[in-house]
Amino acid sequence: MKIIMLGAPGAGKGTQAKMIAEKYGIPHISTGDIFRANIKNGTQLGMEAKQYMDKGLLVPDELTVKILLDRVAQDDCKKGYVLDGFPRTIPQAEVLDKALTELGDKIDYAIDVDVPDENIVRRMGGRRACLSCGATYHIEHVPPKKEGICDTCGQELVLRDDDKPETVQNRLNVYHEQTQPLIEFYQAKGVLKTVDGTVDMKDVFTAITEILK
Ligand code: ADP
Ligand code: ADP
Ligand code: ZN
Repeated sequence: MKIIMLGAPGAGKGTQAKMIAEKYGIPHISTGDIFRANIKNGTQLGMEAKQYMDKGLLVPDELTVKILLDRVAQDDCKKGYVLDGFPRTIPQAEVLDKALTELGDKIDYAIDVDVPDENIVRRMGGRRACLSCGATYHIEHVPPKKEGICDTCGQELVLRDDDKPETVQNRLNVYHEQTQPLIEFYQAKGVLKTVDGTVDMKDVFTAITEILK
């Protein structure tokens, strides 16, 4: 099963992708997590990506596509995967489509987690991230057991640089311009499913499992 998560930054793609990955035993692949791991480790890729990410801009397609294609070529992806944060542009979607077609394969579902912009801005300010293990919390909706500390690995939680309000608005603009057209792209392929992302995260997940049945 090959699944793409669509939706604005902060819509809950990562939260849902992790639950899907666990339930169906497939890897959760987040290009944002891959970039953040590279930034943390001080790699060349990380240094390049950071310049764009801090401004709320997309990392150029050339860089992004290569890391994604390398990742999905790994053995654990044979049984499928859930992509979170890729594709984010039409050219990225076309490259993925071509790579899959060459393997006689395709995307099964593109799930759009729909949340209006007003909700997003409020949500992002409360998001706290663990840069060590990729876990995500929310100060109101998903608080960690001990304030500011990751339940899973014990590291300190941070407000991501790009989750500050001024950058969130840029990211929403970029989303509407460059990523939202993917909704039509996948609708035309007949694989688009939309879920209401404003409800409780458990209810969002129930709606998704109904689709994947
Ligand atoms: P994305 O991957 O789309 O950027 P996340 O999954 O990181 O989004 O979610 C953004 C923030 O909102 C996180 O702090 C997360 O805990 C919280 N969140 C996710 N889903 C919901 C929901 N249904 N209701 C309220 N808060 C949510
Ligand atoms: P969010 O969880 O808020 O949707 P991500 O963690 O997916 O954010 O992405 C954070 C940042 O990493 C993006 O704002 C962008 O700069 C970069 N990024 C992640 N995935 C991609 C991609 N597929 N194409 C270009 N840039 C990306
Ligand atoms: Zn952690």
